[in-house]
Amino acid sequence: MDNPPNTGCTLDPQDWEDLRVAGHRMLDDILDCLEHLRDRPVWKPMPDDARARFRSALPAQPTELPIVYREFLQDILPYALGNTHPGFMGWVHGAGTPVGMLAEMLSAGLNANAGGRDHSAIEVERQIVAWVREIFNFPDTASGLFVTGTSMANLLAVVIARNTALGYDSRKNGIGRNALRAYTSGAAHGCVAKAMEVSGLGTDALRCIPTNRQFRMDIQKLEEAVHADRAVGLRPFLVIGSAGTVDTGSIDDLDAIASLCRKEGLWFHIDGAFGALAKLSPSLAPLLGGIERADSIAFDFHKWGQVPYDAGFLLVRNAKYQLDTFSAPVTYLRREQRGMASGGPYWPCDLGVDLSRGSRALKTWFTLKTFGLEQIGATIAKSCELARYLESKIVAETKLELLAPAQLNIVCYRYRTENSDRFNAELAIAIQESGIAAPSTTTINGALAIRACIANHRTLKSDIDALVSVTLRKAKELEMLYAEQAPSPIDEAGSNAST
Ligand SMILES: *Cc1c(COP(=O)(O)O)cnc(C)c1O
Repeated sequence: MDNPPNTGCTLDPQDWEDLRVAGHRMLDDILDCLEHLRDRPVWKPMPDDARARFRSALPAQPTELPIVYREFLQDILPYALGNTHPGFMGWVHGAGTPVGMLAEMLSAGLNANAGGRDHSAIEVERQIVAWVREIFNFPDTASGLFVTGTSMANLLAVVIARNTALGYDSRKNGIGRNALRAYTSGAAHGCVAKAMEVSGLGTDALRCIPTNRQFRMDIQKLEEAVHADRAVGLRPFLVIGSAGTVDTGSIDDLDAIASLCRKEGLWFHIDGAFGALAKLSPSLAPLLGGIERADSIAFDFHKWGQVPYDAGFLLVRNAKYQLDTFSAPVTYLRREQRGMASGGPYWPCDLGVDLSRGSRALKTWFTLKTFGLEQIGATIAKSCELARYLESKIVAETKLELLAPAQLNIVCYRYRTENSDRFNAELAIAIQESGIAAPSTTTINGALAIRACIANHRTLKSDIDALVSVTLRKAKELEMLYAEQAPSPIDEAGSNAST
């Protein structure tokens, strides 16, 4: 038989001094990288040889830390998505901050399990919950929970609204056949439909209400849909409003939805993934009028809040509904008045699905305290100003066409040309591959759009100028390429299979 492993061995370093040197080096390298982001391309594709190194065998034996770190520098660091870079404008991505990074390092050192029990990580999370209540003018009875992201927060909200409508017996009996119906706008994020699927209600129970010209939910149509469903014996229970849609940044008329929900007895949930934090900017906050009347709000600190990934959050007006949905007495989680199993009337694990969970609160606490809410609000307002600046440049440029008015921080445009969808999809890729700027794409009123979402506190006017000039330059190059590739008249007569 093999010798038993050396029982004296732990996973701590043999030589702390060596580890300390390695750690300081890593810290310096990553801070250098953040200080000089502009010296690098936004993004570059990972070459095949680097990719191949992530298909290696199980590491049964140890490797020296400096060697593993060298692999990180060689194969991982250069091929990040680039959302830390000021030229990144794709999807909705936060940039993080060096402060947030340091907080994550400390958090990993503490290695707190924030599921519950009596320790500092729980108090830090409670502090954030109290601050979030204040930001959205929610009552002291509101509960809050960090989750991965808004997708998860929306799912928890749908489940809470569902159980509250069906009664908490459904936790035991299941949801069976039921007549529940939920409502959201056609511009809502795809995770809303997924929440309906995962919660067992199914997407057939979700009504997608058309939007108006500003891409906001048509309230009249919402009301009609609720009444029509009720008239045939169905049970409307939930409206999910959007505060910042992913395509155009539009904000539903939250106040009108709140009034309708109150009148009809419906749960009002808001997907405010990025837009909810516009509340931190005095100039933008009025756009969110009515948000304080919601039954629940989902949003992300990792987008406009610039907290490092991940840091989603769910706020629920009445903690009772959240507790009645998720708390579960089990013997090994018995609560005491003193000792480690004390720590308040409820623990985070009573408010959601996760038991073991990292402390997303600590990096958020460091971020909010270090910068202050006013400064974070100012960066949010700045990204909206940059979007308006981009909009004005597109309007002034005859070759470019604005596809949706700039709302909040999002601008959708395209290059005017034939075969526009195919051309603009190629153009967006060419821009990304240039390493200068990185927009994404979406579809606006059936047309493929290049979509720039400015959610990065580092982005400046010069980055917007760079996006426009690289768009025009790459479009010219593509046009020339297509002109060269254009089939001769003979080919064209012979076949049009490629069109
Ligand atoms: C990003 C986003 C989501 C999903 O949030 P995650 O944090 O990625 O899970 C939902 N809704 C909107 C409007 C978003 O922008």
